[in-house]
Amino acid sequence: MTTSPASAPAGTTTSGRPRVVIIGSGFGGLFTAKALKRAPVDVTVIGKTSHHLFQPLLYQVATGILSEGEIAPATREVLRGQENARVVLGEVTDIDLANRTVTSTILGRSTVHPYDELVVAAGAGQSYFGNDRFAEFAPGMKSVDDALELRGRIFGAFELAELATDPAEIDRLLTFVVVGAGPTGVEMAGQIAELAHRTLRRDFRTIDPTQARVILLDAAPAVLPSFGEKLGDRARRQLNKIGVEVQLGAMVTDVDADGIEVKDADGQARRIQAATKIWAAGVQASPLGKQLAEQSGAEIDRAGRVAVQPDLTLPGHPEVHVVGDMMSLDRLPGVAQVAIQGGRYAAEAIKRRLAGKAPKGPFRYFDKGSMATISRYSAVAEIGKLKFEGFIAWVLWLVVHLMYIVGFRSRLTAVLHWVVSFLGPNRSQRVATQQQVYGRLALEQLGPHFSISKSGGPKDEVQATEDLTRRRSA
Ligand SMILES: Cc1cc2nc3c(=O)[nH]c(=O)nc-3n(C[C@H](O)[C@H](O)[C@H](O)COP(=O)(O)OP(=O)(O)OC[C@H]3O[C@@H](n4cnc5c(N)ncnc54)[C@H](O)[C@@H]3O)c2cc1C
Repeated sequence: MTTSPASAPAGTTTSGRPRVVIIGSGFGGLFTAKALKRAPVDVTVIGKTSHHLFQPLLYQVATGILSEGEIAPATREVLRGQENARVVLGEVTDIDLANRTVTSTILGRSTVHPYDELVVAAGAGQSYFGNDRFAEFAPGMKSVDDALELRGRIFGAFELAELATDPAEIDRLLTFVVVGAGPTGVEMAGQIAELAHRTLRRDFRTIDPTQARVILLDAAPAVLPSFGEKLGDRARRQLNKIGVEVQLGAMVTDVDADGIEVKDADGQARRIQAATKIWAAGVQASPLGKQLAEQSGAEIDRAGRVAVQPDLTLPGHPEVHVVGDMMSLDRLPGVAQVAIQGGRYAAEAIKRRLAGKAPKGPFRYFDKGSMATISRYSAVAEIGKLKFEGFIAWVLWLVVHLMYIVGFRSRLTAVLHWVVSFLGPNRSQRVATQQQVYGRLALEQLGPHFSISKSGGPKDEVQATEDLTRRRSA
């Protein structure tokens, strides 16, 4: 491994064992690394965050049920006991298939990592379907930062409504629009409704939080389309029951600070005045997929996913494995189990290849089912041919999610916070700071060099792209 400004690869590791580089510390990356625990290889996990993130529970961080620590343990801590694994913080900017290197960058310091086997598990980001300007007013929910920003915006809207005097302004502040009626949107809308009707019911003196409008919008004609008509209808009825307005066939045409423009299925345009907009529609795979496609000739689909071989490798590159949300194979969905099973399969393939054994056969996904919560004690779940709804589905959801939270301590505190939120009306994690609410947009305005100049980062090797000493800000 070499560290910049040099850009040449550094050669071998001290152990002389094959080098497995894994990009990403999400479900795909972490489960690949763990599956290589006893393999005679040196594993390097490169992640652009220092944590592994349990994305399915982000909405609970955004609505004050869980703390971010419970769903985002430090990757370094998770892999502490795995001696053949090393964790590197940095964003991978380049993959060079011909020279078998990966370059990661953090705060102006670039590091080149040579590999013998590469696992690319960089996941997917939010897609605004070509309307990236919506992001300023309608944050998505893909990271801890996103969830904390949303928490600040949601709780902040009630605070501002308490101060407002104009009834129209109060209505705008107490209107929450969630775009996307997939599992994330359904769960988010359900929790905002519970927040307004239960948690905050008695907290304000001027406004009545139970009057808040929670709208779940989707251009498609169904709620939870991947769950089928019966469960989708059931979810829709449950949402209506807890006060969520479901508006289907409604295409978002514009978003601004004060509201959202919508075109209905009949072609009618209308506007919803709403201070808080949440984007839970559409994903776009990591841009690293494009690099892989250009260099290997693999195809990428509209969502940026790389078409992999049946063994999850790139065409002509049996040493490069792509797993999770970045890969496209047999129309498999972008869910945690696909990433976990793909990661384990890639690890097994690596072990066999390095041991000179024949490949095991194509990747087979075992569908363990899908589930989504709607509110406290209510969920829908589909396991094989069985469909569950209501309390049973909710208990199943609880058990499954608890099983997959990483680490005993996190599980324990998650259970405590669930007890607080589900048995009583309260939520334990209502802290919202100004940094959470304004940080993303402020950093975007300041530009990438701000973080380098202010971070106290690697002074020895910062690339001289700009005279940082001239930047003086408060
Ligand atoms: C809000 C939300 C709710 C969800 N709910 C469910 C659910 O209920 N059930 C379910 O099964 N699935 C759910 N999913 C989907 C599931 O989380 C994903 O399918 C799964 O995380 C994919 O795993 P992955 O490893 O491919 O990507 P991720 O888990 O996203 O991991 C990608 C990793 O790559 C890192 N990374 C990205 N780019 C770079 C780079 N350039 N350099 C270095 N590191 C990089 C990221 O920091 C991250 O660590 C949900 C997703 C979201 C966003």
